[in-house]
Amino acid sequence: MLAEKIMASEDFKRCEQFHGHVCPGLAIGYQASKAALAWLEENRSVDEEIVAIVENDACCVDAIQVLTGCTFGKGNFIYKNHGKMVFTFFSRNTGKGLRLSMKPGVLEPDERYRQLIEKVRDNKATDKDREEFAQLHQQRTEDILKKSMENLFTMETTTVDLPPKARMEPSEPCQVCGEPTMPSKLELVNNKMICRDCL
Ligand SMILES: [Zn+2]
Ligand SMILES: [Zn+2]
Repeated sequence: MLAEKIMASEDFKRCEQFHGHVCPGLAIGYQASKAALAWLEENRSVDEEIVAIVENDACCVDAIQVLTGCTFGKGNFIYKNHGKMVFTFFSRNTGKGLRLSMKPGVLEPDERYRQLIEKVRDNKATDKDREEFAQLHQQRTEDILKKSMENLFTMETTTVDLPPKARMEPSEPCQVCGEPTMPSKLELVNNKMICRDCL
């Protein structure tokens, strides 16, 4: 599909609205979600719950929350701080899923882009720099939306150890600050149950 057409689509607009801007990372998340949903559509029964595991916390994961409905708050969106552009989607019932690993070089900035990113970050960009940066940014976003899934990701089916469902446990007060805290997150120090903030 043409990149312009995707960007004008309802789905992409929802991602943009949630994330706040359009960027290459958002495009990666959009593409990963589309690949995952297509795969899951063919491989799951309707009542099965989807879980997403993401291995970074960059722009892309916002598109994934919007498009797959896996969200941080529902507990079916799991963040692993591995610093990798790897996304795994699976069914909670079977543990079977799809693992997407972004291919090397896809998001790699070229020299000019890198310079501009630094200038913008350090508030040293002229109006002309900013304009050029915006253009490159847009161009790179479109490039990602134009690419086939095969060119973006290494895709493989996988099985995952199922994470436990979110548990409900009545809170107990931290014995230092008094704030209600999940008991499993309190630590016993000098005979007091203490929250992680107070540790
Ligand atoms: Zn972004
Ligand atoms: Zn405390």
